[in-house]
Amino acid sequence: MTFQERDKKHLWHPLTQHKIHPDTIAITKAKGCILYDENEKEYIDGIASWYTCMYGHCNDYIVNRVHKQMQQLDHVVFTGFTHEPAIKLSEALINLLPRNQEKLFFSDNGSTSVDVAIKMALQYHFNKGEKRRKIIALENGFHGDTFGAMSVSGLSIYNGPFEEFFIDVERIEVPNVKNFESVKRRFIELAKTGTVAAFVYEPLVQGAAAMKMYDSSYLDTLLNIARSNGVITVADEVMTGFGKTGTYFASEHLTNLPDIICMAKSLTGGMTPMAITSCSQVIYEAFLSDELAKGFFHGHTYSANPIACQAALASIELLQTEEIQSNIKRISASHKEFDTRMKNHPKVAETRQLGIIYAMDLDIKMERYGDLRFKLFNFFMEKGVCLRPLGNTIYILAPFVITDKQLNKIYSVIESALETF
Ligand SMILES: *Cc1c(COP(=O)(O)O)cnc(C)c1O
Repeated sequence: MTFQERDKKHLWHPLTQHKIHPDTIAITKAKGCILYDENEKEYIDGIASWYTCMYGHCNDYIVNRVHKQMQQLDHVVFTGFTHEPAIKLSEALINLLPRNQEKLFFSDNGSTSVDVAIKMALQYHFNKGEKRRKIIALENGFHGDTFGAMSVSGLSIYNGPFEEFFIDVERIEVPNVKNFESVKRRFIELAKTGTVAAFVYEPLVQGAAAMKMYDSSYLDTLLNIARSNGVITVADEVMTGFGKTGTYFASEHLTNLPDIICMAKSLTGGMTPMAITSCSQVIYEAFLSDELAKGFFHGHTYSANPIACQAALASIELLQTEEIQSNIKRISASHKEFDTRMKNHPKVAETRQLGIIYAMDLDIKMERYGDLRFKLFNFFMEKGVCLRPLGNTIYILAPFVITDKQLNKIYSVIESALETF
């Protein structure tokens, strides 16, 4: 039996309509920026496996550290116990995060990091005896698939069956030059009601919405309004975190710092699942009390798993090296150069870039909206490049260690796709 036949027997894949989905592709190994399939065919991982493996697949530095950790301490309960990997990680990460961040809370994935942030914000007000139960979120945002995260997400086509169970969310348009005044007015109106607990947003880049970007000055204005009205600000940096926008965190492009930050995806360099929700001292202190119930009674069995902490610590060390930092500059400059060829291309409607994130919307008439992305995906895979277009948007978010040669191959495959479609 082939991998695909065996796969079909018992496996249920995420985000998949199995009745119409084509066969899955079996990947047998990965190294650096290359994925290898069952026939040893190579694919350049142009999306770093959903922005996780940013230091390259099976990175030796991370592998060695994880290997040593596995022989030292695998797992221990994180309630009432602690360990060096978590402590070292906290020291390294607090040093890297925007300066107002003081405390780290662990969970397992991006969605749970957002749920933790929402619960923190709601209980913050609850502990202070304030009735604030609404959350403001941006239209078309994506924050994950658990109930809290799903509620604040705006891509509702998949969330239909669950909508009536959502928490109370007010959605506002993503600010742009045309709508900014009305968005601002609406934001002020909501914030002034005194019923809003938090504002949850993806800073500057909305990943799942097809790498949509918006201006930091608009966001800064909204954050300022939030702050002066007691609304807790939650930056979902699950996608943007750890160097992708050119700074360690996208929030560094802003003057107003968030109260809470969500991190996952490349936190462990793709080695193991783990997520962190960080917060300021002010948030943390609202949970300190002689009353037990004012504590934050949320916890996952695998909280701060030592192996995951070690992977995260090694990843953060790599991120701060001269080598990775200069790679970030090199890739950003390379995209910029590519963009000079793309932005006026007759089949390209719009291009955008922030740091190493590059996206282009195609201006191609499609018979059916949903079809083009699959055709493009197949075209790219055929040519040995793994890119997953979103709607009519092609984006590149490759590992920091991608070579110029590999980058040029991605560019030329995109250019030949533009010729073909
Ligand atoms: C991917 C993503 C999430 C969800 O993370 P999971 O690990 O898939 O649960 C949340 N927020 C943003 C911005 C993301 O890109």
